[in-house]
Amino acid sequence: MALVLIGILLSDVFENSVSFTTFVEKLKTDERVSDIVFDSYKISAMDGKKTLYTCIAPSAYGFSDFAALDAYLQGVGINLAERGIYVSFEDPNAGSIWSSILPFIGVVVVALIFWLIMRNASGANSAAMNIGKNKAHVQNNLKVRFSDVAGAEEEKEELQEIVEFLKSPKKFSNLGARIPSGVLLVGPPGTGKTLFAKAVAGEAGVPFFSVSGSDFVEMYVGVGAKRVRDLFDMAKRNQPCIIFIDEIDAVGRRRGAGLGGGHDEREQTLNQILVQMDGFESNEGIIIMAATNRADILDPALLRPGRFDRQINVNLPDVKGREQILKVHARNKPMAADVNFKTVARITAGFSGAELANLLNEAAILAARKGKKLIGNLELYDGINKVLMGPQKKSRVVTESDKRCTAYHESGHAILACLCKHCDPVHEVSIIPRGRAAGYTMTRPETDDNDVSYNKLVDNICMSLGGRVAEELVIHDVTTGASADIQHVSEIARRMVTQWGMSEKLGLVAYDSDQPVFMGMEYGNQSRGGYSQETAAAIDAEVRRLVAEAHTRATKLLKENRAILDNMSRVLVEKETIYTEEVSMLMQGMGYQEVIDEMEKREGRHESNPFARATEPEKEHVVAEDEAVTPEEKTEE
Ligand code: ADP
Ligand code: MG
Ligand code: ZN
Repeated sequence: MALVLIGILLSDVFENSVSFTTFVEKLKTDERVSDIVFDSYKISAMDGKKTLYTCIAPSAYGFSDFAALDAYLQGVGINLAERGIYVSFEDPNAGSIWSSILPFIGVVVVALIFWLIMRNASGANSAAMNIGKNKAHVQNNLKVRFSDVAGAEEEKEELQEIVEFLKSPKKFSNLGARIPSGVLLVGPPGTGKTLFAKAVAGEAGVPFFSVSGSDFVEMYVGVGAKRVRDLFDMAKRNQPCIIFIDEIDAVGRRRGAGLGGGHDEREQTLNQILVQMDGFESNEGIIIMAATNRADILDPALLRPGRFDRQINVNLPDVKGREQILKVHARNKPMAADVNFKTVARITAGFSGAELANLLNEAAILAARKGKKLIGNLELYDGINKVLMGPQKKSRVVTESDKRCTAYHESGHAILACLCKHCDPVHEVSIIPRGRAAGYTMTRPETDDNDVSYNKLVDNICMSLGGRVAEELVIHDVTTGASADIQHVSEIARRMVTQWGMSEKLGLVAYDSDQPVFMGMEYGNQSRGGYSQETAAAIDAEVRRLVAEAHTRATKLLKENRAILDNMSRVLVEKETIYTEEVSMLMQGMGYQEVIDEMEKREGRHESNPFARATEPEKEHVVAEDEAVTPEEKTEE
């Protein structure tokens, strides 16, 4: 074992060492090279993890950074980007340790490593070997374009602005425009966040520096912060460019959460990111993008103005989006003539972009194994099953009957929101899962006033019960899907009675205090605000009355508008997401087929020009109750 190890390390350093001229000559024709690893002490050509050959001290030839080297190589006809060769930097200091010590006391180091491995036979060894390796990747001339990201037109539009800024930062800074320096992409795994970041770099034609938050975690104190500094320094020398921090939640979690601390390294890394972001001049041509699937656990400091103050939600695709993603990934796969992507898109509700890509790949593998020339429906369906059987998918399978049920539930909310005079207008209704909710209904206030009147609260309760009531009416059974609604409803009703003095029976008295209960304070007094059992019973009765009245009203309204309820759910099952326009068509009594036809007509128009859809900024919307963060969710982390 020891001999093998020594053998590997020595061969790495000595045997493959070549002069710079030889290095360049070899590089010209060598097809095996997939990576170039570069620091100021040595430069290596790699085939995956295997070092092919190394040239010590390229800086002696005057190449102290990648740009200079790249320019030189292009001069002699080697275009790394065109050949798909990735260039990555290693931490120069780590490099110096290896390249200066190894030749002299290499054996001692090897023995030391070996001893370390022996000592903690598991786990720690890999960390010890990786210490100091900078995993920051730089990719020049990325080939990814917006056209490779399918079915996310609104996100593309938002990012288009960033692309334009990167293309000509001067144009913006001359006018004093402040472009967001940080863009946070938020969405479930596999929805194309990384792809989007690359597409922005590709469209703008700027270098793409990427690093993953998880690279920073199991590291020794100080290394993470140093890496962040190096990364930003490197980026500053290569403006305009993009820095992409994937999985930023790994380092960006709320600081100080959890007892006992002990997250020094993570905190230092995060602090360094904040310091670096603050150190930017607004006109510098660097955009920092980051991706996370949970924005709620991020440290609020990250989201402050001047940092990641622009947030873009990347959601699971709807039917239309899924169809487009399938088409993008089928571009270079021979498909049988009878394959209908519309159908495949329909039955893959809940699939992310990555899962759709995976499904096509599985289908291609199956077809190849059967010796077929084309991928047919049979293989596609088997591919779907294969993806469905995958580990993380199991819990999220959306069946046709789930879809119908969710569609009725959300339609119930949406219709009541339209019928109740004091509810905000409906902006979007969807049966695409988001967070823990199976679907969501979003309303958006028309004005800025935040007053919550009695009528508004009563209407809000009524609308929130709509989902449950629709289930009762149509499915004659209820699901657990309404639990967030019910929680929301009881909370509002209780506060109306106990805090806002909105119950005649109990009068204008505040019964509950909003103060948190601290440990050590007298529990008995604190919890019930000092009122009697009878009062408690009266409160409960009033809360129940409010909810019951709203329930009766919701039932009556939905019964009267049963036709609309049926139509809206059918449109939802078909299209998965509908907006204000469709909702109002449905409310005016249009049939479902008519509405679907309308939507398809419009989609047809958009396909010709992906940027034609002028959408207003979406920052204002209020997310309706299904998205409300439940107490469990808040404490999850
Ligand atoms: P995330 O970073 O959100 O987890 P990725 O960007 O890594 O997701 O996506 C993984 C893969 O899934 C991509 O490389 C791409 O092949 C596919 N994919 C995801 N979303 C899309 C999309 N909207 N259009 C085309 N392909 C997609
Ligand atoms: Mg990713
Ligand atoms: Zn609901």
